[in-house]
Amino acid sequence: MTDLLKDNIRDIPDFPKSGIIFKDISPLLKNPQALKQSIQQLAQPFFNQNITAVVGMEARGFIFGSLVALELSVGFIPLRKAGKLPYNVKSISYNLEYGSACLEIHSDALTQNDLVLVIDDVLATGGTAKASCELIESLGAQIKACAFLIELDELNGKEKLSNYQTHSLLHY
Ligand code: AMP
Repeated sequence: MTDLLKDNIRDIPDFPKSGIIFKDISPLLKNPQALKQSIQQLAQPFFNQNITAVVGMEARGFIFGSLVALELSVGFIPLRKAGKLPYNVKSISYNLEYGSACLEIHSDALTQNDLVLVIDDVLATGGTAKASCELIESLGAQIKACAFLIELDELNGKEKLSNYQTHSLLHY
């Protein structure tokens, strides 16, 4: 089961910069069995959990998040990089290993009646997911869990997400 997924993820050393081993999921997206399995496994713990929306982060969180939303029969909410969303937004800035980043959400995307599943492809340091959760909570919505295709264990992203339930399909 896990082999089908791992066999379709390739390591690209020194991308986008020296020292990073980039997990390239393009082969998995191209393989229908692997793609289907990844979506089913990401969604599986969250049936009958009263999830009302899936949130995914730009860019690869859009792919997995949309498909998981479809699987769970709920809507999808995009979190975008600064300046991309056309309506009123809420923003959050957060620190990356080098520099900082900003994510935005439409201010009417979620309410206090929402229970959210957050989806991204990779959990690395956890900075992106933590900022995403805080942005979602700033609209009054509640986080059910964060789910990832891949978790890079040695970066300890889970520690940053200790307030939240996490679910990762593959560990490296
Ligand atoms: P972080 O905020 O450090 O947890 O980084 C997570 C974000 O960066 C995710 O949206 C990933 O898509 C991307 N990312 C971080 N490290 C990698 C990696 N080694 N391979 C692929 N994507 C990565």
